[in-house]
Amino acid sequence: MELIKHDPENLFMGTKRDGKKLTCMVVDDVPFMVKTLSKLLEKFGIEVVQTAANGVEAVEKYKTLKGRLDLITCDITMPEMDGLQVLEKVMQFDRTQRVVMISALGSKEKVKTAMQLGAKYFIVKPFKAEDVFRILSFVITKF
Ligand SMILES: [Mg+2]
Repeated sequence: MELIKHDPENLFMGTKRDGKKLTCMVVDDVPFMVKTLSKLLEKFGIEVVQTAANGVEAVEKYKTLKGRLDLITCDITMPEMDGLQVLEKVMQFDRTQRVVMISALGSKEKVKTAMQLGAKYFIVKPFKAEDVFRILSFVITKF
């Protein structure tokens, strides 16, 4: 991924070389979390093109967006289908898809499993804006 703008000072990283914004799907069963993360991503210049409130919804929506997402943030603990199962299904479609897991404190084992399954990184709740920025910048530039 080539970026024309990457300015940590301004917490901005969203524009690709073709002038379009990076796109993301935010997956979390807690509406407040979806809202908080979406606001942050938009602030970083990333366009939240889709959201999902559980794993089943996330996989369905991912299928319709396949190949057109630069990033997915995915909560681990969710009803219907959890984040690890979502990750597995996404990886079956596209091993290179950037998925960043959102985990609660104390989910070390699940985070470890997620990294083994192909997650690019993880963000631990509660998080600070600068943590999210740092981790997403890393993932976007590295993968
Ligand atoms: Mg949850």
